[in-house]
Amino acid sequence: MSDLSGLYQQIILNHNKNPRNFHRPEGANRKAEGYNPVCGDQIQVYANLENDHIVDIGFEGSGCAIATASASLMTENVKGKTRAEAIVLMTRVKAMLTEPGAPSVPLGDLEALAGVRQFPVRIQCAMLPWKTLLAALDE
Ligand code: ZN
Repeated sequence: MSDLSGLYQQIILNHNKNPRNFHRPEGANRKAEGYNPVCGDQIQVYANLENDHIVDIGFEGSGCAIATASASLMTENVKGKTRAEAIVLMTRVKAMLTEPGAPSVPLGDLEALAGVRQFPVRIQCAMLPWKTLLAALDE
């Protein structure tokens, strides 16, 4: 179990150090800003939504390691998905962060965020990118 935690920690540190899709994609037609006052995380999420598909996605801003890693992992996991699929994924991530036990379906590298569950104040950090994405898609 500690090996597993170590692996998850590596994933988070890696995504924090080298965030994926950390830019404003060309052709982005959706944008939202999110702010988590508890931690000071500030993030902009950009998406190119075409025919209800997230064709491209990126983010900018500054946040703690958890917020940045969550945003990076999110962009990798929702690119190419429909709006509805992204919302389902968000619901599953939220459940993983707030409910005891393993996720009901495997969530791949997103499971690296599961350890956040032990630190309730950090759940807001991990959920911020997802909430901001939802706001962008609902724009
Ligand atoms: Zn934070």
